[in-house]
Amino acid sequence: MNKYDELVQKSLTNGTIDENDIKWIMTSKDVELLPLLHAAYKVRYKYFENKVRIHIINNVKSGNCSEDCSYCAQSKESKNEIEKYPIKAREEILADAKKAFDGGSFRYCMVFSGNRQNKKDMDYICDVVSEIKQKYPMEVCVSAGFLNDELATQLHNAGVNRYNHNLNTSSNYYGSICRSHTYQMRVETINTAKKNGMDVCSGIIIGMGETIDDLINITKELKNVAAKSVPVNFFVPVEGHRLKEFHDLTPEYCLKVLCVFRFTLPDAELRSAGGREHHLRSLQALSLYPANSIFALGYLTTGGDGLEQTKKMITDAGFVVEKVEE
Ligand code: SF4
Repeated sequence: MNKYDELVQKSLTNGTIDENDIKWIMTSKDVELLPLLHAAYKVRYKYFENKVRIHIINNVKSGNCSEDCSYCAQSKESKNEIEKYPIKAREEILADAKKAFDGGSFRYCMVFSGNRQNKKDMDYICDVVSEIKQKYPMEVCVSAGFLNDELATQLHNAGVNRYNHNLNTSSNYYGSICRSHTYQMRVETINTAKKNGMDVCSGIIIGMGETIDDLINITKELKNVAAKSVPVNFFVPVEGHRLKEFHDLTPEYCLKVLCVFRFTLPDAELRSAGGREHHLRSLQALSLYPANSIFALGYLTTGGDGLEQTKKMITDAGFVVEKVEE
C-alpha cells in the first residue's frame, strides 16, 4: 500500500492519522500535492460526496471590541480604521438573509463583535433569528462571543442551529495571540453551546506563527471539543494587526493544511474560509478536494469573492452546490 492509500485507510478506520503522518505531509519533500489531494478527496467523498455547502457571513455588529486578539482588526488595541457600527437594523439583516437564501446559501452566519452580548442585544438577535427561521429554510449560525447557560438556551430556543466560537490556535500558543482571555474560556463556551443543544462550529487561523507541533495539537483539540464544523482561515496581515510573527503562506502549504484537517477530522464539515482568495489564489478550486464547504461574501475585514464567482468556481471544478433539504 502506498503512503497516500495508507493515510486514507487510517483516517477512515481510526478517525485520524498519526503525528508522524502530519509531519510528513507538512515537511517532507517526497509529498506530491495531487496524490495527497486525491487521498483527502476519498475521505471527503465518503461523508459529503462531491457536494459543497456555501456559507454567507453577515457581519451584523462591527468594531469596539473589549478583547485584545492580536490578529483582529476589531480588537481594542487595533489602530485599523475599520467601519464600526452597532447592530444592524432588522430590515437590513432580513434582506441580507433573503439574498443569501435566494443565492443558494446552505447556512447564514451572523457575526457580532464583542466578547459577550448584553441582554438587550441578545433579545434582539434572538428575535431576528426566529423570523429568519420562519421565512427561509436554511440553517443559521451565530457568533456572539462568550456564552453562559442562559444565553445559550435563549439562542437555541430562537432556532439557532449552530454556534461559532473558534479555538483559533493551539492551547500552548494561545497566550501569544491573546492576553485578555484564555484558551480555556473558549473551550468552556463551546461546551456550554453543546450542552444547550447547539452544534458547534470551531475553527482556526493558520499562519500566525504556529509550529507544526501546534498544528498537531490543534487537530487533537478540535477533536476533543467535537466541532462538527471547522472553518480553516488563513491569516491575512490586515492593517492594525499586532501579531509578532506570521507566516508567508503559499497555496501549496494551505492545501496541505486542509488535507491534514480532512484526515484528522474525517466527518467534519471542513471549510475553506477567510483568506482563501488571498493565499490560495489560482489554486482555490483545489481546496474543494479536502474541504466540503466554503465562505462567500461578508468577511469581517478582508473582502472576498462574490457569490456568483464562488458558485461558478464550484461547478467549473465539477462539484455540486448543496442546499438544505426542505
Ligand atoms: S476576534 Fe472577536 S473577541 Fe477577539 S478582538 Fe476580534 S471581535 Fe473581539
